[in-house]
Amino acid sequence: MSDRPDNPSAVRMADLTTFRLGGPAGRFVDCATPEELISAVRAADGVFRLIGGGSNLLVSDAGLEGLVIRYRSETPQIAIEGDEVVVSGATLLDDLAAWSVEEGLDGLVMCSGIPGTVGGAVAGNAGAFGEQIGDRTVSVALLLLNGTCEIMPAAGLGFAYRRSALQQPGAPAILSVRLALPRGDRAALRARREEILALRAAKHPDWRRVATAGSFFKNVEPTSVAGRRQAAGWFLEQAGALAMRVGGAHPFEKHANIVVCDPGGTAQDVLDLSQRMAAAVRETFGLALKREVRVLGPFRDGEAPA
Ligand SMILES: Cc1cc2nc3c(=O)[nH]c(=O)nc-3n(C[C@H](O)[C@H](O)[C@H](O)COP(=O)(O)OP(=O)(O)OC[C@H]3O[C@@H](n4cnc5c(N)ncnc54)[C@H](O)[C@@H]3O)c2cc1C
Repeated sequence: MSDRPDNPSAVRMADLTTFRLGGPAGRFVDCATPEELISAVRAADGVFRLIGGGSNLLVSDAGLEGLVIRYRSETPQIAIEGDEVVVSGATLLDDLAAWSVEEGLDGLVMCSGIPGTVGGAVAGNAGAFGEQIGDRTVSVALLLLNGTCEIMPAAGLGFAYRRSALQQPGAPAILSVRLALPRGDRAALRARREEILALRAAKHPDWRRVATAGSFFKNVEPTSVAGRRQAAGWFLEQAGALAMRVGGAHPFEKHANIVVCDPGGTAQDVLDLSQRMAAAVRETFGLALKREVRVLGPFRDGEAPA
């Protein structure tokens, strides 16, 4: 665990997020294991912001006051227990997906190439190709803000499309996750993983080089106005979003729902652009897009709901 409280400007949220945006963290503690997270949360007296890989966050240029705790590890912490798999929330999701493929376990190959941690993925019920990690979750070990731990079965987690009860303010941290993964065919899983990684490389920006948090808005739940269409990117493209730009922020040329930010751009640029994009869809289709990316910290004129 590393704690750098003496130099408040030492850690910028830009260095902790794939958008590479965001001002200083008031205080920062980095935790790689459940034990480190338990100590950090107990010392924090319940007042902190938890992040994982920072791949679903837009943090304000002013930064975040108070304590930021990161729970993330580049060393996978994965164990097989009977028919189930137990993985720490700090483990990178793609490391878990790669491991499951090599073990010949099905159910997580769809997470191949999704950045961030297992904890962040379960909190947001991440997924792709119509599947989500909540479908495979048996239970989670939670760390409550008062420092106590409890096991919560998946049924209590309120999983829905890109949603869980663990996104509410004051929600507990996910220390570890228990998953049920059916046996699969290793060769077929390897081929599927390669196919998914190639698809992502062709259609998405490479988050290791390009500042982005992936899809900015959630896909649209079917309604009479939406008809059968669901991809937010389709509505955005039809509404002219691909031609929009605010400062350094603009949609990725191959995918109107992915906002990228050029060097020198700001978090305010991204938020302003996203509001312009959402307004265009509202005016064209009468649909209110909802953000998938989580917005943290103060922005100019407050922050419009989306
Ligand atoms: C190029 C790109 C492609 C992407 N593709 C996809 C995709 O196909 N499908 C998809 O679903 N998402 C996708 N994403 C979004 C993102 O990667 C996922 O939402 C990811 O699961 C977020 O995990 P994280 O660890 O980065 O969370 P963070 O961004 O760090 O945090 C997100 C939220 O999770 C909470 N959180 C983080 N860790 C924990 C924990 N241990 N316990 C409790 N709460 C926690 C945070 O408090 C915060 O509210 C993509 C992003 C990028 C940049």
